[in-house]
Amino acid sequence: MKIQHKLQEVCFNLSVFFIPLILYPHITTMSPQINSKLPNVGTTIFTVMSALATEYKAVNLGQGFPDYPMSEELTAKVYEAMKQGHNQYAPMPGLVSLRESIAEKVQHLYHTSINPDTEITITPGGTYAIYSALTTIVRPGDEVILFEPAYDSYIPNIEINGGIAIPLPLTYPENKSDSYRINWDLVRSSISPKTKAILINSPHNPTGTVLDKNDIEELKQIVAGTKIFIVSDEVYEHLIYDELPHESMLKYPELFERSFVCFSFGKTYHCTGWKLGYCITPAVLMKEYRKVHQFNAFSCFTPAQAALAVYLKNKEAYLSLPRFMQQKRDYFVELMKQTKFDLLTTHGSYFICASYGRISDEADKDLAIRLTKEAGVATIPLSAFYHNGKDDKVVRFCFSKQDKTLQQAVEKLMKI
Ligand code: PMP
Ligand code: GLN
Repeated sequence: MKIQHKLQEVCFNLSVFFIPLILYPHITTMSPQINSKLPNVGTTIFTVMSALATEYKAVNLGQGFPDYPMSEELTAKVYEAMKQGHNQYAPMPGLVSLRESIAEKVQHLYHTSINPDTEITITPGGTYAIYSALTTIVRPGDEVILFEPAYDSYIPNIEINGGIAIPLPLTYPENKSDSYRINWDLVRSSISPKTKAILINSPHNPTGTVLDKNDIEELKQIVAGTKIFIVSDEVYEHLIYDELPHESMLKYPELFERSFVCFSFGKTYHCTGWKLGYCITPAVLMKEYRKVHQFNAFSCFTPAQAALAVYLKNKEAYLSLPRFMQQKRDYFVELMKQTKFDLLTTHGSYFICASYGRISDEADKDLAIRLTKEAGVATIPLSAFYHNGKDDKVVRFCFSKQDKTLQQAVEKLMKI
């Protein structure tokens, strides 16, 4: 009996070893295996929810992108640029004309003088601009403070560089008229000799929180006399409501001297698919930033740069944005009163969060999936923006949509 057992065991062990080789002969012990640099990363929630929305033909208020057309004048300018022969590599930091237009805009908006030659680099999108900033400064073991819920690229961007993400929770609003806020005492007590940077995002995705003067004062005090960098995600610079000012790092010399400030044309001009943005940082930091950029993308789509160089001079095109998008927010807020979702306050971005305690106590991911499949509306569960999947029982809606899309979505949500 004992021998029979032993024999069975040997046969089992041999089959465990040989069967994979028979089934997958191309995989040998010599094949390279990846020791993942991002073991905790799956597919981004935006891809997951958009795919689900497509599968179930749901109205997609999940991933943040407009469903209305962008400016025809701007698309015509791109075509014109192509016809005029702007079809070869742009200079590594971006077209000079575009960098000059950006510098003029910064002067106009923030009264800060930026050198277009040495302090601006055009990038393939805002996400890339942030990734490059972190890659420029983060070494293994460095800590980077960020605030959760957080845009989901931040932590992987830090970790792929060997850095340690220090996610601090934003304070959940006590009543519906407040927004999520930064707890600056928590920031103070989280600073260590290893703190390399603080990553901020205003207007904030996903909560729509906008930093105010008091936040800026706190930040100034915390970084004063330290070597801490700031990576400032300002992609929603123009999507800011209720007459609030945008507190850009560009306005404050003592913050700008240590900041990588990142922007996205996709958000500003309703063309997220263009994946074009830029980073502004002082010349001495930009020198290092460009070393990273030149051996990654090197340069970006030339025709769009040529078009934007001209279009940026049209101040009304960006100054009218807060009004345009606030109308959408207000329209959506009004419509949603007919549902059982309790909307939180948003002062900026494409987004508004809603708690759903009056509908269900299920996990936010389960609700988001069920809403897509059963109600036909896709959202983003907020737990996807927390490293530990914290569940505030809140989902995020994107309101940068045509009125009829918002209407259609709310009609479906009313049935819940
Ligand atoms: N930061 C935040 C907070 C965002 O929501 C987005 C939008 N995707 C980006 C950065 C990046 O924008 P882009 O599409 O230009 O990479
Ligand atoms: N920023 C967008 C959002 O928050 C999506 C970006 C993306 O899909 N990578 O929805």
